[in-house]
Amino acid sequence: MVVKGPLQPFRAVACFDFSVRFRRLKNITLLTMPGCLRIREVSMKLPWKHSHCIVCGVSGGLSIEHIIPESFGGVLTCCFICRRCNSSFGSGFEAGARLAPELRKAAFGLRNSLPELNDKLERGGEYKSLFEDQISKRKLRKDGHLGISELKDGSLIVPEPDALGQLKSIMQKRGISDSEIKNALTMWEDAPAGHRVDLGAGVIVKKWQEHPSTPTYTEPSLSPLVPLKIAFEFAALLVGGLIYDDAFGSLRDVLRKQDRNLADEMVTHNRASKPDAFHGIAFEGNHEVAQFQVRFFGLLAYTVRFPKIAIDHPPAVYTHRLDTGDDWVHLADGAD
Ligand SMILES: [Zn+2]
Repeated sequence: MVVKGPLQPFRAVACFDFSVRFRRLKNITLLTMPGCLRIREVSMKLPWKHSHCIVCGVSGGLSIEHIIPESFGGVLTCCFICRRCNSSFGSGFEAGARLAPELRKAAFGLRNSLPELNDKLERGGEYKSLFEDQISKRKLRKDGHLGISELKDGSLIVPEPDALGQLKSIMQKRGISDSEIKNALTMWEDAPAGHRVDLGAGVIVKKWQEHPSTPTYTEPSLSPLVPLKIAFEFAALLVGGLIYDDAFGSLRDVLRKQDRNLADEMVTHNRASKPDAFHGIAFEGNHEVAQFQVRFFGLLAYTVRFPKIAIDHPPAVYTHRLDTGDDWVHLADGAD
């Protein structure tokens, strides 16, 4: 489905009077330009003057929270949730969120402009490769190599940096003498690619020159709790201390309990026509209820609607360009 209309704010450049509305951003390095606010900072830390966690309400012990997950390339932070909530999100719905296939596919579409982020998202992802007639499924390691896997016939597929160590350990387990192992390893090093070489003691090796691997994309899709959390935190930036109001109680509960089913009822997933190197958060105003849009890599759009809550604030948009590092805040003054 192609998203129309509501996406406009991410590109809109209109004359907004943000001088009053964005007081909360005041202590950030700002370069003002006609109609919008331009912020250039590697990390954009927003101030929070209250002492309670916006999720569980506990007092004190607040920690720095990345509003768009850092693992996605997010830089907007605010110290407004407690360490316990922060780590519970980190080990809960945010754990492995960057491996969501839709997110990685969108980043892959931008790999030329965002090579590092694309690589970072792929770490830990599962890949499949064909070895003769057998399929090997392996996870991409931090060092950029696919891990070790065992094929159905009992043979091992080992990445090159691990090969010597693996061979040595296999041969040691078989009680082969050190000098024989040394000879075998030399034979392995000299072995031509693509040929089977018998190293003795039942160890046969083959160096694979190339074995194209493709992601299996079998990891879970992105939890709706991720865009819901982002929208809730963005709402906190807009309403300040009112985020502690009872009206937000049910939203806080959904986040605290990490209730995916209830989050699902508030979040709709759409797609724009093509990826673009930005993440964005928009408060689109009240469409019966407060409506937000969260965008990842320009392409993935999540509409978040807060049940039974309207927010008395003009529409506002935050955009983070992933290619240039620029952050933009657009704030409509009054009616959109
Ligand atoms: Zn908390």
